Amino acid sequence: MKFLNLNLNLNLNLNLNLILNLILNLILILKNLSMKTMTKTFILLKVCLLAILTLPAQTSKPVKEMAYADSPRLVEIFKDLHQNPELGFLEFRTSGIVAKELKTLGFEVITGIAKTGVVGVLKNGEGPIVMYRADMDCNSVKETTGLPYASVKTMKKEDGTEVPVMHACGHDAHVTWMLGIARIMMALRDQWKGTLVFLAQPAEEPMTGAKAMVNDKMYEKGVPIPDYLFGMHTWPIAVGSIINGTGERTSGSDQLDVTFYGIGGHGSTPELAIDPIVMASNAVLQYQTLISRSLPAQDVGVLTVGSIQAGSDNNVIPAYAVAKLNLRWFTEKTRNTLLEGIKRINEGLAVANGLPHELHPKILMKSNVFPQVNHTPLVRKINNALTPLLGPENIFSDTPPIMASEDFYHLVLGNNKTTCDFILVGTADPELYAQAVREGKRAPFFNHNGNYQVDLAGIPLGVQIGVTALLEIFRK
Ligand SMILES: [Zn+2]
Ligand SMILES: [Zn+2]
Repeated sequence: MKFLNLNLNLNLNLNLNLILNLILNLILILKNLSMKTMTKTFILLKVCLLAILTLPAQTSKPVKEMAYADSPRLVEIFKDLHQNPELGFLEFRTSGIVAKELKTLGFEVITGIAKTGVVGVLKNGEGPIVMYRADMDCNSVKETTGLPYASVKTMKKEDGTEVPVMHACGHDAHVTWMLGIARIMMALRDQWKGTLVFLAQPAEEPMTGAKAMVNDKMYEKGVPIPDYLFGMHTWPIAVGSIINGTGERTSGSDQLDVTFYGIGGHGSTPELAIDPIVMASNAVLQYQTLISRSLPAQDVGVLTVGSIQAGSDNNVIPAYAVAKLNLRWFTEKTRNTLLEGIKRINEGLAVANGLPHELHPKILMKSNVFPQVNHTPLVRKINNALTPLLGPENIFSDTPPIMASEDFYHLVLGNNKTTCDFILVGTADPELYAQAVREGKRAPFFNHNGNYQVDLAGIPLGVQIGVTALLEIFRK
């Protein structure tokens, strides 16, 4: 119902202009009319004015109606993207779809930023610059949802390995939302003033895409630096609910590879070799003591070893083993405790195994992001605007920050200008969610699991959430 209010307000502004024009025209006409004709004309004018003031919005349909009218097209786009997932910096097909659609709508489009990044700009008079970001990449996860439009694709990673791929984090929904929002914002451009920037970002999963777009000089290439940066992420809570809290919302994170070198040899003579697999295995267990023994109990941190790669034959001790680590933290102090601890454990293992200095483990730092902070006044403003749409009971603003991380705000890091809001949008089937809660689970599935799924009802609702938030931001 709030959209009707919005349209009515805007319509009244428009109608006031019409009224003024009518009065001016009338004065010109009256100069040449008799008294009787004048009275008749006044009555006619009064009727006209009343009709105009009580007219429903003519310039735009309510956002809800527009989102649902576009829903069949958007669901097709979503299914197509879901069936054709692409890994970070390889989102050529996805970015092509985004660029084509934004161009068709009339946006000024810049493509090829950090390989696959796309930006669409719409300058619509004096007002704030608002950037909406959607990430495009998928995960190297095998889909197990059994959905009729499930991904069966594989892709070659940078290291040449062929992996199953899936949108297990909902970035397919993010892109779809953006295209739906773009269409409505364009149709409603007489209802807001300013510059709207849609940004399709590559490679969020490795947390390198946002920095890559900035480093590829997107701001020098004509992308305006935003006053506001807004983004939405799918989350496995029920469709119809969102999490939009103030302050720190996501953790800082590092991704690093540790290579343990040994001396390879025959599986039958370990005494002649130095086994990097045993070293890596020891390291995994010792790393966990950094969380349980090195961090103060009040501080939070996560250390996950997501992959160990070594050797290929049963009877060969390989020359090296690679452990792929992932850290999460909220303070620089915690981060340093973890990084220094990892180095100490690595060195300790090398010394304990009698390795020469040149064979001590090496760390490859692959990416780093800082905690994402939501701007308190902006969060409150957006939550207020979303309350009529979602209901106050479905807007969670006081949940603790999540340990997941985002590179979203690295698009504007350090410019001292932009304020951000990043919200988590419920996309789980409400029935499945309710059942999970009854069973004592937090959610029916989680991001990055092969069974992660976005309920199709979340597509048009996400579009409404996005449009409502953007219109509210432009309102200043
Ligand atoms: Zn993810
Ligand atoms: Zn994600």
